[in-house]
Amino acid sequence: MKKLISDSKTKLAATYLGIIMAMCIGFSGVIYRTSVNELDRPVAGDRLEFLRDQTGDVIEITRPGPSRRSLFNDFQKQRSQEARTALVGKLILINISALILGAWFSYYLAKRTLAPIHAAIDAQTRFVSDASHELRTPLTALQTTNEVVLRRKTITEEVAREILAENVKEVEKLRRLTDSLLGIAKNDHADLSLSKVKLLGSINSATDSLRVYAETKKITIDNNAKDHTVEANPHSLTQIISILLDNAIKYSPEKSVIKISTARKQSKVLLSITDPGIGIEAKDIPHIFDRFYRADQSRNKAQSSGFGLGLSIAKDLSDRQNSEISVTSKVGKGSTFTLILKSA
Ligand code: ADP
Repeated sequence: MKKLISDSKTKLAATYLGIIMAMCIGFSGVIYRTSVNELDRPVAGDRLEFLRDQTGDVIEITRPGPSRRSLFNDFQKQRSQEARTALVGKLILINISALILGAWFSYYLAKRTLAPIHAAIDAQTRFVSDASHELRTPLTALQTTNEVVLRRKTITEEVAREILAENVKEVEKLRRLTDSLLGIAKNDHADLSLSKVKLLGSINSATDSLRVYAETKKITIDNNAKDHTVEANPHSLTQIISILLDNAIKYSPEKSVIKISTARKQSKVLLSITDPGIGIEAKDIPHIFDRFYRADQSRNKAQSSGFGLGLSIAKDLSDRQNSEISVTSKVGKGSTFTLILKSA
């Protein structure tokens, strides 16, 4: 891939340089033609009163007679030839300078043109390698447990059930990860058209889909949101709220209360989801929206069910519908994620 980028850079730089040189040579041709035409234009004798000879002395030519006219013609020819030679020299110099400067400028332009493509390819490569790494973990667990069992001569039904249950857990992890990856691919191509959306409808859809999950941890969702109308993509809005709410449940202890509230600030509507969970360390906050990033304490303390993809998906969707997500958090006290939407 690096070679492809480097080859493209060289080709693009060569194309830019070709264009620059074609323009320079073209302009030089025009300048040369126009100047030569001007030099070859006969000078009207009666308009001529003074002319300087080569030493700079003024020759008076008021009414050019035959001898004076030939002197004048020779002089004009000689000057014209000198001027042509000087002009060609200058044009060659200009074109050589254009070639040197143009080569540097073309390379710089090609580098700038390809920079976003380079960055996108880098991000894609990182994503594929992170995704492969995440896929490998449950696959390795599956392989190891099955191989260990296969080495035994006999297995009891109880052990077989245990192994199967373990396998199902790992397969479930794989399914959730592939679902998230497919979700990312789908979101990347989705056309997120914006419309006027009633906030409460989106919040209710999100809370309904997570009610059972919250109940398994005996968590209460305290919804105090007002029904503001915002400018957003209805599907994305529900997806973002679901991700934030899912995290709030995931990282909060049993029997907690998660609060949903809204506020209006000038032309913005702020939707906040506050949890009394494990919180996030200040050093992790700048990274939690990166793909596959998981803070250490959530890996250790909370469930290993996450892949570090939720917030990156939420941020991507939020950016594409012109909203923002901000976060405040204290380790051991909890977190507040705020979605800042445009009021409609
Ligand atoms: P994950 O699937 O790991 O939850 P996310 O992208 O949703 O992935 O979140 C990235 C990381 O941000 C999490 O691993 C966790 O460390 C941290 N995080 C997100 N939401 C919360 C929260 N409400 N409370 C504490 N930590 C959180």
